[in-house]
Amino acid sequence: MCYAIPGKVLEAQGNTAIIEYFGEKKKVRNDFFALSVGEYVYAQGGFIIQKISLSEALSILETWKELFFRLQEVDRELVQKETKTLYQKANSVRHKYHGNSCCVHGIIEFSNYCQCDCLYCGIRKSNTSVFRYRMAPEEITRSVEYAVKTLGFKALVLQSGEASWYTLEQLLAIVKEIQEKFPCLIILSIGEREIQVYEKLYQAGCRGVLLRFESSNSSIYEKMRPGHKLAERMDLIKKLKNIGYLIMSGFLIGLPGQTEQDIVEDLKVTDSLGVEMFSFGPFIPHPNTPLAKAPKPRMDVVLNTIAQARIKYPEAKILATTALESLGEKNALRLGLMAGANSLMVNVTPEKYRQFYEIYPQRIGVNEKTEERIPSLLKLLHSLGRAPTDLGL
Ligand code: SAH
Repeated sequence: MCYAIPGKVLEAQGNTAIIEYFGEKKKVRNDFFALSVGEYVYAQGGFIIQKISLSEALSILETWKELFFRLQEVDRELVQKETKTLYQKANSVRHKYHGNSCCVHGIIEFSNYCQCDCLYCGIRKSNTSVFRYRMAPEEITRSVEYAVKTLGFKALVLQSGEASWYTLEQLLAIVKEIQEKFPCLIILSIGEREIQVYEKLYQAGCRGVLLRFESSNSSIYEKMRPGHKLAERMDLIKKLKNIGYLIMSGFLIGLPGQTEQDIVEDLKVTDSLGVEMFSFGPFIPHPNTPLAKAPKPRMDVVLNTIAQARIKYPEAKILATTALESLGEKNALRLGLMAGANSLMVNVTPEKYRQFYEIYPQRIGVNEKTEERIPSLLKLLHSLGRAPTDLGL
């Protein structure tokens, strides 16, 4: 499976390298490997995450060769010359700045225990009707092995509710095993932990953090997340950025009390945090939360936000989220990708746990086997001329 194209090393010096794919050169960071010119590697999010043998690289490049240029052609044809609508304009900006590459990350939701009581969230601690699970460290690494070795993922988000049950030592052991045996870009999504925990995990090899600030309006934030302060969340995100992590962050669209102006501000704040990948999606009410009766936002509000983000912040990667797809309208993912989004995530949590990570009801992908979901996503991406790959910075 290919979620990245092998790159050939043209130059390697200290922590940086220049790699080349089908004539395109990219500058990437090399924190983990001894590299020689002529070797082949995989890069994700601007980091080299795997070295691969010459024979493997050549055979994968052979399968990509024709497809790569054909996909570019399809993408070019779908980009309108005259950009009449907001979405067409956003799509042409996406094409100009990012070409046809689309990041496809896997996500493993390894525990739904959470000590927070966010009003919007189905796994809030006060929801006693959800079955709670914790995957054992061996189960987590086995799932990573499957996602990397069998499914071909090169970047994985490890997500859980916020809980300190997993000790730093356990997390480090998991990360070290992944680094050694199933190398990939490891992205943490474990909520607010001490900065030292994040520092150690960075040293162990993690390079990404997914942590939304949820709302940049402090009165909404503090109402929605009892006991939490927006300034502390922001401060943590800034510190994570300073450590060197790639940051994925964003907000919820449609929280009670949120105005259009709040969304504009949320986008501005996402950008000002130096976020590499914008992750914002609709709030979907969960029946066992205080917001059970709150309305979900309209689909066009979410699509307009994607388009505005793309036009104002052209260099950012923008996720088409599972929540967007779960709003209940057909072709949501396609529409998101045609309104400026260029990244998506695939749920690779073991099927027996998936339904319990119920942050909101009727999540897309919960009742579908990963082995079926991946080909259908690839088919969609190919129909839009997108290469399911991340070509680095
Ligand atoms: N503990 C991690 C992961 C939290 S769950 C952390 O704190 O970052 C991941 C995301 O799900 C949250 O950041 C939130 O934005 C989203 N989420 C929670 N409840 C939701 C709902 N009802 N509708 C849509 N998204 C929701």
